Amino acid sequence: MLNIGVLHEGFVLDHIEAGRSMEIYKYLNLDKFDCCVAIIKNARSNKMGKKDIIKIECPIDQIDLDVLGFIDHNITVNIIKDDAVVEKKRLSLPKEIKNIVKCKNPRCITSIEQELDQIFVLTDEAREIYRCKYCEEKYRRKKK
Ligand SMILES: [Zn+2]
Repeated sequence: MLNIGVLHEGFVLDHIEAGRSMEIYKYLNLDKFDCCVAIIKNARSNKMGKKDIIKIECPIDQIDLDVLGFIDHNITVNIIKDDAVVEKKRLSLPKEIKNIVKCKNPRCITSIEQELDQIFVLTDEAREIYRCKYCEEKYRRKKK
């Protein structure tokens, strides 16, 4: 079991696919936060063989983790408060994602007006399909 004693308040993101922790660090914009982050790469896992873990010490309302559902909804999010796990959050595909991926359609309004938010909407949950809110261009998720 992972020692979470060092975290007073924050998150432990567990069961990250090995090698993807830096990508997640970037998606969550953790470099912009003044919080303590520990990245553990290639931790041994019974379930997965190898996995990555990210520990973030910060006020738990400070970081929006919805994007994780978009990246990989198999990640386990442990929410830590007062030195204990208070909740294991289940991730699901977010209905809408903002400024995470860019529309690839060169004629899309977001390609022309760079200051517009890049918004993609979940249009088919079973097939995990997102479409650009403006031009309906499909976003193709990277498959493992
Ligand atoms: Zn578009």
